[in-house]
Amino acid sequence: MTIDDREFLMPWFKEKGVVKYQEAKFVEVLDKGMVIQTKDGKKITIDCDTVVPSTLLKQNLDLAAKLKGKVPEIYSVGSCTKPEPDIMADAIASGAKIGHQI
Ligand SMILES: Cc1cc2nc3c(=O)[nH]c(=O)nc-3n(C[C@H](O)[C@H](O)[C@H](O)COP(=O)(O)OP(=O)(O)OC[C@H]3O[C@@H](n4cnc5c(N)ncnc54)[C@H](O)[C@@H]3O)c2cc1C
Repeated sequence: MTIDDREFLMPWFKEKGVVKYQEAKFVEVLDKGMVIQTKDGKKITIDCDTVVPSTLLKQNLDLAAKLKGKVPEIYSVGSCTKPEPDIMADAIASGAKIGHQI
């Protein structure tokens, strides 16, 4: 979830009485909910239909690192290369730029 979406969503959650568990860790998604671990170590099962991850987005080059050496060339493009997400046009442009270089 992008930071501006969070800014709109959080006040609405508050208005609707949504319970927040801050610094909780994800444990497992179940058929009818999910299990989290609160910051004091307690495991809680939450009944729900839909899980929306609302952690901040960040750079992630893990896949490229795992593929290194397994293929002749590897280039990372798009959102995974950015500390903060861009819009689709930027992701497409970064892919096009590398594509033209190749
Ligand atoms: C909530 C939200 C709203 C947004 N709204 C807009 C908007 O209105 N307009 C706009 O222009 N942009 C918007 N964006 C940004 C836009 O989604 C991104 O710029 C764009 O999707 C980046 O494209 P990408 O191909 O780089 O990455 P992604 O679209 O994230 O694609 C990466 C893909 O790689 C897959 N993947 C990751 N790791 C692995 C792995 N190890 N093995 C296999 N597959 C893997 C992922 O599942 C994903 O399908 C929004 C982003 C978010 C999160």
